[in-house]
Amino acid sequence: AYVVTAEDVTERVRTQRSLEQALRGQRLREIDQIKDDFVSSVSHELRTPITSIMGYLELLEDGGFGELTPEQLDALSRVSGNSRRLLHLVDDLLTLSSLGDPGQVLVRKQIDLRLTALTAFDVVAPTAQGQGVSFDIDVPEEPVMLMADADQLERVLVNLMGNAVKFTPADGKVVTRVGCGRDGVEVSVADNGLGIPCEEQPRLFSRFFRSSTAADAAIQGTGLGLSIAWQIVELHGGRIEVDSEPGRGSEFRVVLPRVAAIG
Ligand code: ADP
Repeated sequence: AYVVTAEDVTERVRTQRSLEQALRGQRLREIDQIKDDFVSSVSHELRTPITSIMGYLELLEDGGFGELTPEQLDALSRVSGNSRRLLHLVDDLLTLSSLGDPGQVLVRKQIDLRLTALTAFDVVAPTAQGQGVSFDIDVPEEPVMLMADADQLERVLVNLMGNAVKFTPADGKVVTRVGCGRDGVEVSVADNGLGIPCEEQPRLFSRFFRSSTAADAAIQGTGLGLSIAWQIVELHGGRIEVDSEPGRGSEFRVVLPRVAAIG
């Protein structure tokens, strides 16, 4: 006769449970994929009408449809500002979904991190100047070589430098440093601006996160830049560290291995 023991039952329940867990995990991954595809296709669809709106706005502002009164020009500049923001949001969403794509590969080459940092610096410098924030960069004399995707890293650094400037009031100071650390190459961006409360720091790199200090100061943003930066640095096998204190400022450090496993 076939005897079913208590151990048999326990074993069967255990197998059943792990099967259920595996299925649930797979289902969640499928749902995640559907969500990413949805966000990506909606963003694509939104991009075309937004760029068309912006084209017409430019024509209007340039007097292509006749002279405009100062009030009309003022209204138009608000519309263009918001259209630019919308385009930025849509582009960030597209970037995020492409980074999450398993087919995403980095274009890795031997690059000199000093040049990438200097290019990012040039992008952000005019904003810093316009805002009255002192903006410096300190690079070593020797090349800082590593295998990396220069365009993606530039995006990370533009975001970090841009944030530092954005969250630092006039007369404040932002300093970027490039160097070699013990476990890789490093870029740090330090500011003496608003800072981020300690209890909010664990959520800094989550999608759409914006700190209460930013909201209180009514500073605009999507809360997507840092999650994009995190993903890019992670794809490079690196990490981002943060030290920040409200009222004193923040320091973001990107640490990257010189040579990463191909992936
Ligand atoms: P965004 O700047 O568009 O809001 P980010 O993802 O780049 O999005 O940043 C998320 C949030 O992190 C910001 O809204 C801000 O609250 C906080 N933050 C990022 N960098 C700094 C900084 N240098 N100083 C103070 N707060 C910062």
